[in-house]
Amino acid sequence: MDANDPLRMSYGNQHRCWAEIDLAALERNLFRIRDSLPPGIRYVAVVKADAYGHGVYQTASRLMQTNADAFAVANVEEGARLQEIARGWPILVLGPVLPEEESALVQLGLVATVSSTNEAIRFSETAGSLGQTLDVHVKIDTGMGRLGVWHEEAKQVFDTVERSDNLRLRGIYTHYSDAVESPEFTHQQRARFIRAIQSAGLENRTDLLIHADNSAGTEAFNHENPFNAVRVGLLQFGVTQYPSSVFHSVSIEPVFRFNTRIGLLKTLPAGTPVSYGRTYVATKPIRTAILTAGYGDGIPTAASNRGQVLIRGQRCPILGRVTMDQTVVDVSAVENPEVGDKAVLIGKSGAAEISVSEFSQWTDSIPWEVFCSVTKRVPRIYSTARE
Ligand SMILES: *Cc1c(COP(=O)(O)O)cnc(C)c1O
Repeated sequence: MDANDPLRMSYGNQHRCWAEIDLAALERNLFRIRDSLPPGIRYVAVVKADAYGHGVYQTASRLMQTNADAFAVANVEEGARLQEIARGWPILVLGPVLPEEESALVQLGLVATVSSTNEAIRFSETAGSLGQTLDVHVKIDTGMGRLGVWHEEAKQVFDTVERSDNLRLRGIYTHYSDAVESPEFTHQQRARFIRAIQSAGLENRTDLLIHADNSAGTEAFNHENPFNAVRVGLLQFGVTQYPSSVFHSVSIEPVFRFNTRIGLLKTLPAGTPVSYGRTYVATKPIRTAILTAGYGDGIPTAASNRGQVLIRGQRCPILGRVTMDQTVVDVSAVENPEVGDKAVLIGKSGAAEISVSEFSQWTDSIPWEVFCSVTKRVPRIYSTARE
């Protein structure tokens, strides 16, 4: 085996299944996103769920060096982890805070999301009893139906926050529910958001961080952002959602590659069933490879008989059911496959490429879920070079 042939081996060659994370591509993506926005817009980097499975320490460190302004995480636990390396950086907790988490939230100096007067009162009491001030962003529900106070009822929440000596209003935000599919509805959400801010008399408060655009919003509206910040997750990791996105022309790059290897090669006679449930049966003699990864690594069973991998630049269909540690593929199209060869699940091989979006379609999933489904058994290997 030629260890220098990039189609066969790589620096991951001691692993059975591994992810490669290109921090330099992440950095270039952030530069490109920032360049595309109107001047002065601040960048809240969303790094919840271990930075979408990319590793929060490595990812957030690089984003800090690349001039992110703030971070957002899902909960207090994630905020505490991130703060180990990001002391002094604003860290917004996007999710609801449970009663038992409140004092940690205050003591860590995280920024809380407030969605109701009840929450504002609870947080104020906790902060007061600790003799501290808690920074908050008020969230407005403009049509997501999840967190946030309904836009027509926002004034009362603002009043409660502003009246409290223990809470300090630092930002206001909303979240889009359908920014890819429905520009009309998203425009309506924006209008509701603006109206809620105006009716609370807060439209001239330049000290507040006002943000609505997630990745899809940033792709759709990047030149006409009337607010002063964006809140971006997926796009920085190199995934675009819009066919007409400006980020095709400014070339957002994939950050994440997902690989496994050939553990065994085998020829099956016609009529042989493959894997549990015999959902695939060879109709003619076929050459197969047994890969050293399965759903225990993050190849969903939904990819059974549907997904493909790349070996030596060739597409190889998955045969039969994906199992916990092994997956069978058809290698008929591959010239001289060898045990140990790399099989690309997400990424490039020769001229061929499987994007995370394509991978997610085989499994009726979405790119966010694919990233979150790569399990902890899979080592993340970082490349960090600057050009
Ligand atoms: C996850 C999340 C984001 C980031 O969404 P992307 O589509 O990954 O950019 C932004 N805002 C909120 C409230 C979120 O939960």
